[in-house]
Amino acid sequence: MSRILIVGAGGVGSVVAHKCAQLPEVFSHICLASRTVSKCETIATLIQKRFNRKIKIASLDADVVENTVALISTFKPAMVINVALPYQDLAIMDACLKTGVHYLDTANYEPPTEAKFCYKWQWDYRDRFRKAGIMALLGCGFDPGVTGVFCAHALKHHFDEIHTIDIIDCNAGDHGHPFATNFNPEINIREITQRGKYFQDGQWIETEPLTEKITYDFPEGIGPRDAYLMYHEELESLAKNIPDVKRLRFYMTFSANYLTHLKVLENIGMTSIDPVEYQGHTIIPLQFLKAVLPEPSTLGASTKGKTWIGCIINGKAKDVTKNYRIYNSCDHQECFAEVGSQAISYTTGVPAMIGAMMMLTGKWSGQGVFNVEEFDPDPFMAALEIHGLPWVEA
Ligand code: NDP
Repeated sequence: MSRILIVGAGGVGSVVAHKCAQLPEVFSHICLASRTVSKCETIATLIQKRFNRKIKIASLDADVVENTVALISTFKPAMVINVALPYQDLAIMDACLKTGVHYLDTANYEPPTEAKFCYKWQWDYRDRFRKAGIMALLGCGFDPGVTGVFCAHALKHHFDEIHTIDIIDCNAGDHGHPFATNFNPEINIREITQRGKYFQDGQWIETEPLTEKITYDFPEGIGPRDAYLMYHEELESLAKNIPDVKRLRFYMTFSANYLTHLKVLENIGMTSIDPVEYQGHTIIPLQFLKAVLPEPSTLGASTKGKTWIGCIINGKAKDVTKNYRIYNSCDHQECFAEVGSQAISYTTGVPAMIGAMMMLTGKWSGQGVFNVEEFDPDPFMAALEIHGLPWVEA
């Protein structure tokens, strides 16, 4: 029985709150805090209606460490689940250090002024978390998150050595809008417009953004789709934590329509994060674009179709070369029926809840800063089956 503070009341925060509320035996008291408190109110009302459970809500600007310290000091959670934006990661980790509570997030820190994934900023907290006797679990969504657990599971149960890993993320759903992103538009577009990068024989190789593609024939009735090579944050931790891995790549599918919209927006400067002066105000074009695009948390009702995220792994078992695939496929409408969210928020929020459950029940424990593939995958894999993200392997 533990008290939990969830920070961020967006698409993912809503799923985390719903899933934690379904498990009162683990999450005995829940507080959902976010910058716009009305979003917390809406989610709390839905949870009350759906599960007859009352959760606390709070207004919080988590960029200010002392605000989070004050909330932690009054609510007294055992841990914080950070599902606000990557910009808040370090400030919330600082607040956890000051109050001695555990920390979990789903996306690694990015400075607002530079679109760059890098675990260094958070890995640099290792000694401080160790000395404080608390644990931080980084990147516990789906990708990063479940993809790392899938790799740890493959290494534990199917391979003596892993040589290559290709992670493929396909959203074959349709939200009915001409252009929308299925998680925070600012973070999503920063990620997609970065240069591509993959790991090969100990080196990182860079590519022009979205220039290298494969066509993959997805199961579950999805069929062939184009998937584009991108840099993604779990590649950095897997390169360290999967012994002797030779190649690591990440691909994501995009429709021609999505890429055309993105190209136009890029060409006219709307995806830029450089400040511009407009009628006496300084604005960031990408932040303005976010303000006019649909909020991911509103896409649930209209999104139809499936997601498919998996790992394709090659290596050796008992000296024999082996090819292996493991994936989850999720139906947008089924997620909406259960928790009122589309599958991208669902596939991120469920693993965040499971990671918190692993920590609070002592199945995953440690002092310091960790990535998911460093722990025993078995209890997490079992929980995925129970809590809505069953997996298929072959
Ligand atoms: P949303 O934009 O829907 O929600 C983000 C929420 O955080 C908003 O409610 C926002 O409040 C709140 N917030 C922003 N700044 C602050 C602040 N300073 N203090 C307190 N609250 C704040 O995003 P998503 O729910 O789609 O994504 C949440 C996180 O999940 C992101 O970090 C994203 O990168 C990550 N993610 C991870 C995935 C994975 O598989 N690992 C996949 C998808 C997402 P306000 O409404 O006031 O702006």
